[in-house]
Amino acid sequence: MSDTAHPLLPAGTPLLRSDAVDLQVGGVDTAEGLLVSPQPEGLAAVLRGLDGRRAQRAVVADAARQGADAGAVAAVLEGLRAAGLLVDVDAVDLLATDAGPAATARHAVETPPSGGWGARRAAVVVVDGATRVGTPLAAVLAASGVGRVSVRDAGLTAAGDVVVGGATAADEGRPRSLAAADAVRRANPLADLRPPTGGTTPDLVVLARPWAASDPTAAGWFRAGVPHLVATVRGSTGVVGPLVLPGVTSCLRCADLHRRDADPRWPQLAAQLTAAEPPPSGATVTCLLTAATAAVQVLAYLDGSAAPAALDATLELVPPDLAPRVRRWTAHPECGCAQREDRTTGDNGP
Ligand SMILES: [Zn+2]
Repeated sequence: MSDTAHPLLPAGTPLLRSDAVDLQVGGVDTAEGLLVSPQPEGLAAVLRGLDGRRAQRAVVADAARQGADAGAVAAVLEGLRAAGLLVDVDAVDLLATDAGPAATARHAVETPPSGGWGARRAAVVVVDGATRVGTPLAAVLAASGVGRVSVRDAGLTAAGDVVVGGATAADEGRPRSLAAADAVRRANPLADLRPPTGGTTPDLVVLARPWAASDPTAAGWFRAGVPHLVATVRGSTGVVGPLVLPGVTSCLRCADLHRRDADPRWPQLAAQLTAAEPPPSGATVTCLLTAATAAVQVLAYLDGSAAPAALDATLELVPPDLAPRVRRWTAHPECGCAQREDRTTGDNGP
């Protein structure tokens, strides 16, 4: 590892002593830890100072000035890195975080994404539907460093819309879009709440209304080439996915055609499901788990760190256990949306 790395040890990592010479770093629960014995002079202070803002070279030099053995400190840092306890921050990426002591404190508890903060900070996400899933999800995304989060909704807040992390009881009767904006602001006062304007297309749209996937208006996002993710509760079941990357994955129409194949009456049923706005639904735990599961998908996509699990699939969270069940949605041969032929074959799941 180069000595130009900017090591960060998450502030919540335990530093534990069993005697005067030992220091255990992490290693509680199932996470790997490192036992340093004997510990170099002043090691705990050096480790608590690892905020990702100084190059490792500077960290070691500062420790040596304080009387520590530079070689021993460097060896401990390598050990922590090998144990997966250290995060190496790109120095340039620090500029992508918000300035000020409050923002710094918020970032300190969010482990930096593997690709750095830059992609999240630059991202524009639209949440369509200030629902019991959509609003807390928007707040989670803003708290996780997504720079611009806009929630779309033309309705008024009802008592049933109130949910932890979302609309409050005091919002009843207010426009849902304003209640959602306030929820996002509570999570991150510096989040940009403006909707995309002037030809700006969002990086991703979350469809948070219960039957948005069957709503023909959702096809507009496909035509515009904007990635979109379904995140909602239908009845009592949380549904996350599919995450549609237009031209790459299967689309919402594919899923609709598969449903029609399974039941020829589906188009008639779907028209009824989308004809009127259903009442708020979903228990608080279901809504929040759905929002958090969806946030994991959105952040994985924005960070580019891992293939989101909701590509060509939905994750269904069914009470009471709410353990995610994966349902695969392959491209439908009649749809013609996906360009890769190998996506037109395969199992359509349960
Ligand atoms: Zn399709």
